[in-house]
Amino acid sequence: MTTADVVIVGGGLEGAAIAWALAERGVTDVVVCERDTVGSGMTGKSSGIVRCHYGVSSLAAMANRGLELFENAEQVLGQDIGFHQTGYVVGVGEPNVGALRSSLANQRAVGVQTEEIDRDEVARLWPTADLSDFAAFGWEARGGHGDAYRTAQAFAGAARRAGVRIRQGAVVTEVLVEGERVAGVCLADGSVIAAPTVVVAAGPWSVPLLAAHGVDLPITVHREAIVLLDPGTDLGPVPVFSDLVSLQYLRPEGAGQLLFGNSDLAVLEPADPDRYSNRASRGFLDMAVGKIAHRFPGLENAAVTSTYAGCYDVTPDFNPVLSETPVESLFVAAGFSGHGFKISPAVGRLVADLVVDGKSSDPDIPECDFRLARFAEGDLLTSPFPYVGAGEMR
Ligand SMILES: Cc1cc2nc3c(=O)[nH]c(=O)nc-3n(C[C@H](O)[C@H](O)[C@H](O)COP(=O)(O)OP(=O)(O)OC[C@H]3O[C@@H](n4cnc5c(N)ncnc54)[C@H](O)[C@@H]3O)c2cc1C
Repeated sequence: MTTADVVIVGGGLEGAAIAWALAERGVTDVVVCERDTVGSGMTGKSSGIVRCHYGVSSLAAMANRGLELFENAEQVLGQDIGFHQTGYVVGVGEPNVGALRSSLANQRAVGVQTEEIDRDEVARLWPTADLSDFAAFGWEARGGHGDAYRTAQAFAGAARRAGVRIRQGAVVTEVLVEGERVAGVCLADGSVIAAPTVVVAAGPWSVPLLAAHGVDLPITVHREAIVLLDPGTDLGPVPVFSDLVSLQYLRPEGAGQLLFGNSDLAVLEPADPDRYSNRASRGFLDMAVGKIAHRFPGLENAAVTSTYAGCYDVTPDFNPVLSETPVESLFVAAGFSGHGFKISPAVGRLVADLVVDGKSSDPDIPECDFRLARFAEGDLLTSPFPYVGAGEMR
């Protein structure tokens, strides 16, 4: 039997960020148990969009903290994480103009640098787009996209240098509980790591680990496909585009390609995270091509080059659970609902705060927003400025 002050179950982006943040707070007797390799879960599927455009203040603040780290990753984490500061534009139709303006003001109140820009400015940024059905646009010059896999590796590397043990190929079969409190974890090889604190950050696989102790984590798993395109022409340096009329997002992807994601989350496709199709279905492709053709009618020579899919771990309010559970000193960081990349540095810091102090050190990011009990209480974390047709966008 080995011991640690903290065991983290899951070496995805969030587990690695938590390990790094604990080390930053001086807690280095930490073991990360990853059943496969660091970043091998849904982190490897992330589109990596970085925006602070959230209606929920704490999320806007978290994304802003994330941005600060991404901009300074080489100094803070010691390596390049593949962050591209292309800028981020969001366009809405007439019914959502009020919500957009309120949301932008709310974001600025927590320090986000964002502004409304007009159609001509967006036309300069995205000359190939048909912008006629948009009524207003938000712009973040500091937004862009990153590489979640490289970011997870960077967090894990920085944590390891500080003394954290990262065990790959270490499958946790059981969280151990004695009386009312957590006692460690048991691994598939029969070994035990005794620890007074355990953080479950196992993405969609978190649910059964907690259910064994009567902790109901309301997370469902849904497949989400991504389409890569050759636009058939040189688009130049385009920013990330969040299209809340057609409900799609696009961003540049390496060698002149485009990455398309669907932002219509009203109907989700349930999936098994261990057994799901890793390519877009015919129906999804038809939908994607229709949306792209509507927004970019000039891209006549565009062609789909490849597709893949990942799974979102979705909670009832599309926001994560970052919380102690009813089992004392058993914490959970899961349920990122498809937007856990940009907030990962702040997730790490908040969970480290919860483990060390029991509360958030950041007044803009109150820990109660992310408590597990909010679901049972019916007090969901939703935007005060919901978008018609894109209500799941937080
Ligand atoms: C298609 C897609 C697109 C996305 N796009 C964006 C985006 O544009 N912007 C954004 O902000 N976010 C985005 N996200 C979300 C973001 O990528 C995720 O929220 C984040 O990567 C999740 O990290 P995680 O560590 O929670 O989960 P994971 O990366 O899944 O990590 C969980 C880890 O736990 C391990 N594990 C599971 N069970 C056990 C066990 N029993 N013992 C030990 N280890 C175990 C797994 O092997 C895995 O490595 C996207 C997600 C997907 C799927």
